[in-house]
Amino acid sequence: MRRPGRQQLEYCALLAAAFAIATVTSWTSFATQIDNDAYDFWFRLYKPVVKPTEAILLAVDEESYREAGGLRGLRRALAEGLDRVAKASPRAVVVDLILAEDSDPESDERLEAAFRSIPGLVLASDIAGAQPLWEEPIPRFAKWARAVGHVHADPDPLDAVSREILLAKVAGRQRYWALALEAFRVSRGADILESPENLRVGEVVIPASHRNNRSLLIRYLPPDRDIPEITLRQLRADESLAAEFSGKTVFAGITAQTAARDRLMTPYSYGVPMSGLEIHAHAFETIAQQNFFTVAPAWSVLAVSLALVLASGAIFAWGSGWRSNAMAVCLLAVAHAGPYFAFTQGIVFPFAPALASVWTAVVLAAAYQHFVVRLRLEDSESERQRYRHAMHFVTHEMRTPLTAIQGSSELMGRYALPEEKRKQIADLIHSESKRLGKMIEVFLSVERLSAGGLELKKEQFAAPELIRTCVERVLPVAGRKQIGIHTETLPLSLLSGDRELMEYAVYNLLTNAVKYSPPKTTVTVSAAHRGEHLHLCIEDQGMGMDQKEVSRIFQRFYRTRKAEESGEAGTGIGLSIVEQIVSQHAGRIDVFSRPGEGSRFTLILPAQLSAAAAEHN
Ligand code: ADP
Repeated sequence: MRRPGRQQLEYCALLAAAFAIATVTSWTSFATQIDNDAYDFWFRLYKPVVKPTEAILLAVDEESYREAGGLRGLRRALAEGLDRVAKASPRAVVVDLILAEDSDPESDERLEAAFRSIPGLVLASDIAGAQPLWEEPIPRFAKWARAVGHVHADPDPLDAVSREILLAKVAGRQRYWALALEAFRVSRGADILESPENLRVGEVVIPASHRNNRSLLIRYLPPDRDIPEITLRQLRADESLAAEFSGKTVFAGITAQTAARDRLMTPYSYGVPMSGLEIHAHAFETIAQQNFFTVAPAWSVLAVSLALVLASGAIFAWGSGWRSNAMAVCLLAVAHAGPYFAFTQGIVFPFAPALASVWTAVVLAAAYQHFVVRLRLEDSESERQRYRHAMHFVTHEMRTPLTAIQGSSELMGRYALPEEKRKQIADLIHSESKRLGKMIEVFLSVERLSAGGLELKKEQFAAPELIRTCVERVLPVAGRKQIGIHTETLPLSLLSGDRELMEYAVYNLLTNAVKYSPPKTTVTVSAAHRGEHLHLCIEDQGMGMDQKEVSRIFQRFYRTRKAEESGEAGTGIGLSIVEQIVSQHAGRIDVFSRPGEGSRFTLILPAQLSAAAAEHN
């Protein structure tokens, strides 16, 4: 099996990071707000098929409230209305008023009488007080109720929109089911059976798990197919309207803006809150029509996010160009539309995690493939090119001494040559094979140095002597171009390490200075002992280089364009060896260069002052 390369590992790490970023992001309240907004938006976008409703409102609207004489006359007016409702034989009647206190005896009497005639009465209670306790209907009312339900429609703490209700609520030692659930139970004449995962009323299974606090997402009906409503005023004015309540579950309560305390925003309300009475009726319809939302479990959200990250990764790992961009656009579209599609199927899948995963993964994967992989490909391509050039040059260079050796040895073997001629040819063979040997050695040193396989000799030697040897060796080459080599006074420093390699380094810098300078210029060699270091400078008045070129000259086989065009032979490996040698000696090289003005190479090497110099100081 192939081991994964560095690039693959980097890419996998990047995708893992994308997944982590997306997961963490989707836990923030910002992401929750996005989820909420998307949920509300889907509500408005989706046009469900609406069945006929079972709930109907007996609403105390603004006018009914005024006509009843406000809160004081409300119980009496409501009693009148309820009498009429009762005659129509509704399935259940929910009275969404907190009747925890006595009012005037006459009105209470009247209301109690009305309650007496309603067989499926459901009354309301809520939690109040500093030490939260239930405000329950007073006994004279409670005794006629088949059930009491809580009226809390807790809005989302983040944006105060009512999206769900808790089907059970506890305060003190008392638990109440939600008003809507009690209404449903009474309307079906069944009991509520509990299991950890759901609640069952007759045939209907409500997916409200104990783990989730028995929360139920309300499937609000669209405003144009709202729950029918008859106001108390209308009913009192026209008795025939009571027929509308026949066989229905009636929600009676206040909708008047001035009187209803519990008005909340819903996904459908554009800034206009809905009364608690209507919210309970919508919750009732959700149960009655079994129009439940299922919330996608956390593991499935994580799995989808992971799949999206992997898909984004795959698209950019195996594709390229417009094809992978087009596929990424498709993936983005799927991630955006998928949660809405799930919504239409009754599954609430949070929007933010899918969005965060797909965007982070696509952006990171695309950036990585575009910038890193492509640049690396370009780099390795140009390196291969340089390597080919170098190999071409080397084989060419090596062929010259080899041809000379071959030709000469053939001459010697074939002809009886005079002794003097033989010696001449033997000398030629010797010098050519030495040249060849040197060439091979240089190549091998690069390989061994970079692999760390070259043993450094440890000897001490005088810097001035080394420098002078190198200068002397380079003089004939410089002479051919009429380049003067000016050596300034050299300090008596002692270097330690491998003299031969160090000589190679200095000689290489000197030959470069000569090679890349025009005729009749000067190369200056100077040195200074500073602290524990020798600073050796080789400065020329040659072609120079720009900053970008300087940053690359220590790469193997790199040559500047000007150097290539100059016609000077070279392989582009000399400086890479110099750098290796210097760093093996715990030193470094500084380069200062300007195009057309010349270059200055400074070797900075650990050195000691010789005893004589130290004494002199
Ligand atoms: P080579 O001289 O064989 O090409 P080097 O590794 O010694 O290889 O140098 C690499 C490149 O650095 C050269 O090809 C040249 O472009 C540039 N260079 C080195 N020294 C100088 C210098 N003194 N002035 C200008 N360019 C230089």
